[in-house]
Amino acid sequence: MSNQRVKLRVAVVGSGPAGFYTAYRILEKTPSGIATVDMYEKLPVPYGLARFGVAPDHPEVKNCEEKFEEVAQSPYFTFIGNTMVGAQPLAVPYHTRSFQPNHVPLSLLQQHYDAIVLSYGADSDKDLSSSVQGLDLAGVYSARAFVGWYNGHPEFQHLDPDIMAGEQAVVVGHGNVALDVARILLTDVDALRKTDITEAAIAKLSENKVKRVRIVGRRGPAQASFTNKEVRELMTLNGVGFIPPEAEFMSPFLENSPKIGRPTKRLFQLLQRGSTTSVADATKHFSFDFLLSPTSFEASEGSSHVARAKFDVMQLQGDMLFKDTRVKPTGECKELPCNVGFMSVGYKTHPLAGLEDIYNDGANHLNNEGGKVCAGINAKGLYVAGWIKRGPAGVIAETMYDSFETASVILSDFEDGEIGGKSCDGWEGVKADLGDKLDWKVVSWSDWQKIDKAEKERGSKIGKEREKFTNQNDMLAVLV
Ligand code: FAD
Ligand code: NAP
Repeated sequence: MSNQRVKLRVAVVGSGPAGFYTAYRILEKTPSGIATVDMYEKLPVPYGLARFGVAPDHPEVKNCEEKFEEVAQSPYFTFIGNTMVGAQPLAVPYHTRSFQPNHVPLSLLQQHYDAIVLSYGADSDKDLSSSVQGLDLAGVYSARAFVGWYNGHPEFQHLDPDIMAGEQAVVVGHGNVALDVARILLTDVDALRKTDITEAAIAKLSENKVKRVRIVGRRGPAQASFTNKEVRELMTLNGVGFIPPEAEFMSPFLENSPKIGRPTKRLFQLLQRGSTTSVADATKHFSFDFLLSPTSFEASEGSSHVARAKFDVMQLQGDMLFKDTRVKPTGECKELPCNVGFMSVGYKTHPLAGLEDIYNDGANHLNNEGGKVCAGINAKGLYVAGWIKRGPAGVIAETMYDSFETASVILSDFEDGEIGGKSCDGWEGVKADLGDKLDWKVVSWSDWQKIDKAEKERGSKIGKEREKFTNQNDMLAVLV
């Protein structure tokens, strides 16, 4: 759009919740036509983890997409799908990336926009390969890859997780992603058939042999980062029994109950009450295992498939009732049977090329003050939102609030004259500069709507909400 009235041209990098909530707030708070937002997305389809992370049996969480759809209807919003900003990150721990989308250098965007919002999330795993051996054994997966696989993310369709090797599964990590993985392994596949989980995942889960899931954390119950709603869901799964933690983990909480906060108290009540299906009646079981820090996955002699997981037994270094209490090794080890293992120890962000000097590796985010990049080469006009702003933690509501904060900072910088008013022409200018190099299909919002419609039609033929396309070629084929 080369409208003369436009005073603030914003590029948003990434079409997840952070990108959309920032766009929404900017367009909502500026008089019509004063600001435009161009949203770049590396995939041909929008919504980031709302589409590819949120579990298929949580459809109500995906309702945020209705809001995003509304944002995209604005005449001042342009979707530029199938177009990555910057190049692909280099090393990834235990899955090679086959997919290299078309890309636009960040420096080109900086020439054509007043403000750039980096909201490209976290697209790697926290890498524990230097402290945990055997992550490359057959049957050991990153939770991120497993989640991406069952949710139809093109990058993970090669995964073909082997959940047929035996009954014992180990999920390392006490966050909500670990609970999503455990729930998908434990849920009766028939209860998933009508969700938007892929048909390939349904086929594989139909052969699932897992009957026992151990969800293993390095700290204690009060330090776990999963939430009670998700624990409650596991406790009420049909035919699934909960094997309670040893008494040593429970008794101090029951004795000290006035000292602990409400959510922790509720968690202990849940753990104490257990599952709605008794252990004796259940066909599948799960447990939370505490104070175990992973050291290795190992195969049996002569095999390359995982057979057991080994852990250092840990002890808490302070009050076991406090959320922040750390752990140290006791010197003891513990071994658990493991026919399939999942590492769910958190996601990892990365800096786009040229942003290395503002990247904080330890904090796992780009340095910023309230969403504004204040230091670094070419920092002017750079903003951040979502997981790349505050690290890969937080639910969609938290992402929404931090995106609103970023939008407010952008609008206040615009009011102060710090940004805006520069003679720039957004996507039109980027396209002109790319010239012949722009040799890929850019997916517009109306293109996405065609893909969306085709997915829903595929779904309705088999009695589900949608059947996702799981590779870029099939997505783009709809547009030919
Ligand atoms: P993302 O959602 O990751 O979006 C980033 C987008 O940027 C993606 O579309 C990506 O393709 C794109 N991108 C990446 N690099 C580039 C590039 N270089 N150029 C262009 N585009 C790029 N929250 C809840 O409230 N409820 C839930 O049930 C829930 N379930 C979750 C399940 C899982 C497995 C995970 C991991 C998270 C879940 N969350 C849930 C949290 C929620 O998904 C996040 O808060 C939210 O998605 C973060 O938004 P974001 O926009 O920062 O990142
Ligand atoms: P998370 O909540 O940060 O949990 C990561 C887990 O990995 C923690 O138990 C952590 O233990 C453990 N861990 C980290 N480093 C480790 C190491 N070196 N060794 C052993 N264990 C280690 O991350 P997540 O589960 O990936 O979730 C990301 C965000 O998405 C969270 O905010 C989550 O709430 C959100 N999400 C929400 C939903 C939902 O609402 N239903 C679903 C999925 C995800 P320590 O605490 O000891 O570090």
